[in-house]
Amino acid sequence: MKATEVIGEWQVPLTDIQVSEEDVRAVLDCLESGWLTMGPRTAAFEQALSEFTGAPHAVTVSSGTAALHLACLAAGLGPGDEVLVPAFTFVASAAAIRFVGATPVLCDVISPREFNVDPADVARRITPRTRAVIGVHFCGYPAEAAALRALCDEHGLTLIEDCAQAIGAVLDDDGRQAGTVGELGAFSFFSKKQLCVGEGGMVTTAAKELADRVRLLRSHALTSSTWDRHRGHDPAYDITDIGFNYRLDEPRAALGLSRLPRLADGLTARRATVREYRERLSDVPGVELCFDEGAVERASHFAFPVLLADRERRDRFREDLKAAGVQTTWYPALHTFTEYRSFAPADGLPAASEVGGRHCALPLGAQMSAAAVDTVVAAVRAAAGP
Ligand SMILES: *Cc1c(COP(=O)(O)O)cnc(C)c1O
Repeated sequence: MKATEVIGEWQVPLTDIQVSEEDVRAVLDCLESGWLTMGPRTAAFEQALSEFTGAPHAVTVSSGTAALHLACLAAGLGPGDEVLVPAFTFVASAAAIRFVGATPVLCDVISPREFNVDPADVARRITPRTRAVIGVHFCGYPAEAAALRALCDEHGLTLIEDCAQAIGAVLDDDGRQAGTVGELGAFSFFSKKQLCVGEGGMVTTAAKELADRVRLLRSHALTSSTWDRHRGHDPAYDITDIGFNYRLDEPRAALGLSRLPRLADGLTARRATVREYRERLSDVPGVELCFDEGAVERASHFAFPVLLADRERRDRFREDLKAAGVQTTWYPALHTFTEYRSFAPADGLPAASEVGGRHCALPLGAQMSAAAVDTVVAAVRAAAGP
């Protein structure tokens, strides 16, 4: 299928996914090798990911959701434990807490404009049962990592970073990347994410024992891998826990390995488009930009959200953009979903509720043409206003 068939009727789709001839060749080579899962390409991809992120250990898994699940298990979370998580995120951040029988405690974001979790709200919701914080770098904008780290250290909590939308985001002036400040980081290689292979994910950590635990649990808690056995090591194995099949297969590892060297340029291109959007949209009445220039420079730009005056205008704005052929999306706050309604704290989540109702994410990709940006800017200008 050609890219145009996927794009369908949209003049400017939400994002672009371009698979190069080299990528296709890498996958074909893998298929022709006859080794289809947990082999040399997975090992090489993990090594390259560790170098890219600066995390000492990178363990690939079958999805970002699997990465969060294994991070929660490796952190030792279970029934009776409370885990703090922002209310404004994708549902998997909170579902992973529930997979292990722990309780998500929804926290508010700083403001609709700075929509990452508010460390002050996190601090307020710590109880004797709190065991961990899942910090989300939402839309690729780095969360307040230093403040979350300090809170976790002070209260003896584990920090898990949900980096599913944030590969390559920079957290501080030292250039530390997302996934290196928490005890564990969880990444996604889903098709819409900045580094995509279709379905896939990874757990990062600096602690060898946590990496070993994630490796064990991703493959049935088997004490040796098929690749080890193939190479004549460890002919016998034991089962030491309840494990899963959360392995990434070799064709996807091959695709990731082929695509990873282009990721940095892709993030630079996304940032350049965001800067252009901000310049050209800063004077549009009724359309508010999120975060500040400093955050823009450190973010890895999964999405480009803007704020409208209220829900009604946001919905109308999206309709107008749709009519102009411009695809948009938005994320509801978790406590507005049926399954998560009961997790809303009694004192409410005003900023998360507000940003859920007011934001709209515009098209953004690594290969957006100048014409596509022009189309979006013109459509936004036409749709904005009273
Ligand atoms: C995509 C995403 C996930 C889940 O990743 P999958 O690979 O789709 O399972 C988790 N958290 C956030 C914030 C995401 O955007």
